[in-house]
Amino acid sequence: MDVSDFYDDKGNYTGPVISDVIDEVKNYNPQADTDLIMKAYELAERAHEGQNRYSGEPYINHPVAVAKILAEMHMDQATIIAGILHDVIEDTPVTYDDLAAQFGTDVAAIVDGVTKITQFQFSSKEEAQIESYRKMFVSMASDIRIIIVKLCDRLHNMRTLNAMRPEKQIQKSHETLDIYAPIAHRLGMFNIKWEFEDLALRYLEPEKYRELENSVVLKRREREEYIENVISILKEKLNGEGIECDIYGRPKHFYSIYKKMQTGKSFSDIYDLIAVRVIVETVGDCYAVLGWVHTLWKPIPGRIKDYIAMPKPNMYQSLHTTVIGPGGSPFEIQIRTKEMHLVAEYGIAAHWKYKEGKKGSDELAEKLQWLMEIKELEQESEGAEDFVESVKTDLYTDEVFVFTPKGKVFELPAGSTPIDFAYRVHTDVGNKCTGAKVHGKIVPLTYRLETGDIVEIITSPQSKGPSRDWLSIVVSPQARNKIRAYFRKNDRDENIMKGKDSIRREAKHLHVEYNQVTNTKYTDFVCSRFNVASWDDLFAAIGYGGIRPGYVIQRIKERYPEDFVAEEEKSTLVKAPRTDSSKAVHIQGNSDLAVKFAHCCSPVPGDGIIGYITRGSGVTVHRADCVNMKNVDDRDRLIQVNWIDEGGSADNKFLVSLYITANDRKGILADVTTVISDLGLNISALQTRAPENGIAQISTNVVVNSLTQVDTLMKKLEKIRDITNIYRV
Ligand code: MN
Repeated sequence: MDVSDFYDDKGNYTGPVISDVIDEVKNYNPQADTDLIMKAYELAERAHEGQNRYSGEPYINHPVAVAKILAEMHMDQATIIAGILHDVIEDTPVTYDDLAAQFGTDVAAIVDGVTKITQFQFSSKEEAQIESYRKMFVSMASDIRIIIVKLCDRLHNMRTLNAMRPEKQIQKSHETLDIYAPIAHRLGMFNIKWEFEDLALRYLEPEKYRELENSVVLKRREREEYIENVISILKEKLNGEGIECDIYGRPKHFYSIYKKMQTGKSFSDIYDLIAVRVIVETVGDCYAVLGWVHTLWKPIPGRIKDYIAMPKPNMYQSLHTTVIGPGGSPFEIQIRTKEMHLVAEYGIAAHWKYKEGKKGSDELAEKLQWLMEIKELEQESEGAEDFVESVKTDLYTDEVFVFTPKGKVFELPAGSTPIDFAYRVHTDVGNKCTGAKVHGKIVPLTYRLETGDIVEIITSPQSKGPSRDWLSIVVSPQARNKIRAYFRKNDRDENIMKGKDSIRREAKHLHVEYNQVTNTKYTDFVCSRFNVASWDDLFAAIGYGGIRPGYVIQRIKERYPEDFVAEEEKSTLVKAPRTDSSKAVHIQGNSDLAVKFAHCCSPVPGDGIIGYITRGSGVTVHRADCVNMKNVDDRDRLIQVNWIDEGGSADNKFLVSLYITANDRKGILADVTTVISDLGLNISALQTRAPENGIAQISTNVVVNSLTQVDTLMKKLEKIRDITNIYRV
């Protein structure tokens, strides 16, 4: 789909408008408060007035299109309204409180959550990125509707991506493939997942995409005939047996074909380019259909999957079988009920269709073990990095299903060992595990579990606890976290000492005092920020390696910038340097004159310069472009001067004055001073003025020895987020 798809030849907008959204909602939710939806639209339209999308169309088209997608998924009223309003907190003066007052806290909280996810910058800065992931996963666990709106927002942006600059297209496509498609998969939202993948592929591999498109189109006729034939045979059989059903053919999406071709298969080898889907009334019918299918065509062994008895963790249910069809071509048949079908298409979002008006999150989280685990991980992990690594492992790996001897099913990441299983059953079972049996036979603890394994854990009260080696054997984040937790607890004293040492070393490195960063003033902040109960807990976590000391100091500095400016000034402010001026410049024709450097323009080696003969018969050196020099009446007093060393020398120090403006935020000053000191430069003065209209003003004098250093410094400063302007005074 192109942006142009939304406009006819005369340039009229043909995309969804608000009445389309309302019509759609009324279809499945006759009780919906359409006045309130209209009110949300009017607010959004007013708020976005004058804003345009990249394509040039009015901005309001975007949130309306997002709401339309949500309506197609039969989402509840709060989510539809949140979809219409999803960008107003981010882009307009409308606030959370405004939304809460007019549309309720549910809507406000969803919009707020979406805004927070949108603000995450998936920049190259590793830490920022990890923090972003963490927030996203946590918000997802707090109200799943947030991520549903976000996914629809992203879907519409991907559908209209061709209006963006090429480098943006590539960046957004990567992001979509790396983050949003796996999340959609995890939530069982396959329609969205497939569209994400196909759209991303189109921008990331345009050539291959076009090739695929062509080959798929070429064979379409042939395939359609084949499917029609299969469907009519099947229909006749099932109707004859008295089973009510709908049967559809389904083309595979491009990305999955692309993936298969990546594994070396050629296009013609990919027999399951199509699948046939049978939708029936009852679960009993599903199994009956499976039986009848197998009387018509031979099943391929190992390809029969019963996701009804054993639903996938994303709630997907269906029976799958691959059979050898007419003419010997294999194809896949999926059999499910209408309700299962809805879940298969919309995943978690299907939940709302039946739960209108209910607060679904908690109940839903129980169904989605995966979401529960995210919450658990958040509590058990040490620091954002650890948490995100855990969730990503969860997000990207396949799963195996194994059983206890009593028949209870557990889902584990593929590659899991009996130790992973033991910890999943219970922490104590894990800690006391000494061996394992699979199907009644003893296996090593490194055994990789397979779906269908019946696993029995042997425990011993005499067990001395887990072994450190286990950390490299287990694959599930839960098991790893629990083993780490065991060692954390048991080596606590040693870890506290190690942690204190690391903070001390890091503090020294960052030019702050150990006693200051560990000030009791920060206790509350530190405890809530790092999810610990005390400083000792934090030291222990650092000692264990769960949290990096630099990360802790950085967060404290960000939170309390005012405390650290003074500190940095004390340690890095130096007196204005002395320069042996006579050694730095050469004065044309006369080397006896005393030389001074002008304060108005502070020249440094490398700058174009000019001398001015003062009444006291010395020479003041200015920058050639200094305004004071342009206005000199008595041009005779100007004299040519040259740097003896244009590149500067380490012995001669000069002051350069910078004036910086920035969007005011916590930590901006600390960021500036960090950049300066990271370059090994000293600050001789630093001044900030109270921000006006949200713009912070910072003046600083820095000691340098050449223009090259000034340039490097300015380039580095420019890269700080929120800095808007830097100039030399
Ligand atoms: Mn948006």
